[in-house]
This record gives sequence, C-alpha cells and structure tokens, in this order.
Amino acid sequence: MTKTIFEKIIDRELPSNIVYEDDKCIAIEDIAPKAPIHILIIPKKSIPKLSEAKKADEVLLGHLMMVVKKVAEQLGVQDAFNIVINNGEKAGQTVFHLHIHLLAGKNFTDLFPG
Ligand code: 5GP
Repeated sequence: MTKTIFEKIIDRELPSNIVYEDDKCIAIEDIAPKAPIHILIIPKKSIPKLSEAKKADEVLLGHLMMVVKKVAEQLGVQDAFNIVINNGEKAGQTVFHLHIHLLAGKNFTDLFPG
C-alpha cells in the first residue's frame, strides 16, 4: 500500500521539524500552522482515523494524550492549548493516518461560546 505523508515523515523519507519522538509516536510542527504553535502528534502505528481504532489501541490512544501534555509542557503552553482530531473527509481530515492537532497561542474560545 502507498505510504501516507506521515508514514514517510516517520520513516525519514520526508523532512519535518520533530519536537518529540518515542517508540510509539512522533510530534512534528505542522507545515501550514493554524496558530502560533501547531503541533501534530502522530502514532507510528498506522490507524487511518479515530473511528477505526480498535480496543487493542486503547493504551496507545492514552499514550498520545500524555504526549500532548508532555509536548505542551515542553513548549511552555501547558496553561492554554486546544487539541483537535479531524475524523473523516467531511470533518476536514486530509491525511488518513490518525493524528492529534495541538494548537496554542491563539484564542479558539469563540468556537464553543459559553
Ligand atoms: P488533517 O486535515 O488531516 O486533520 O490534518 C493534516 C495536517 O497535516 C494539516 O494541518 C496539514 O497542514 C499538515 N500537513 C500536510 N502535509 C504535511 C507535511 O508534509 N508536513 C507537515 N509537517 N505537515 C503536513
């Protein structure tokens, strides 16, 4: 099967700015940032989208959340950040390899007015 952009980045076939990596995931700067800080947290395992995750992926999904926390601390934005997962083309997903967007430095509160 053809590799996604993120598999190529994980395999170092494409360049990226890596901010964190461990045996289960990689975190890179988004090439087209939607906020002053825009990081993608990407599992090394290829799960096309969240809705296709299996029970066996539960620990991995939890790990990704802890990496969000770690990267937010590393970048000094732990007090204010947003995360987004686009699931499916109609929801704006363009790369079909699960990833979490970590966004900071921009106020998104008007998306969900209180
Ligand atoms: P999606 O729309 O699938 O939720 O998010 C895909 C994200 O990947 C987009 O924010 C897009 O800017 C980013 N992206 C696409 N191609 C590349 C690339 O080659 N390198 C990096 N670092 N990010 C990319």
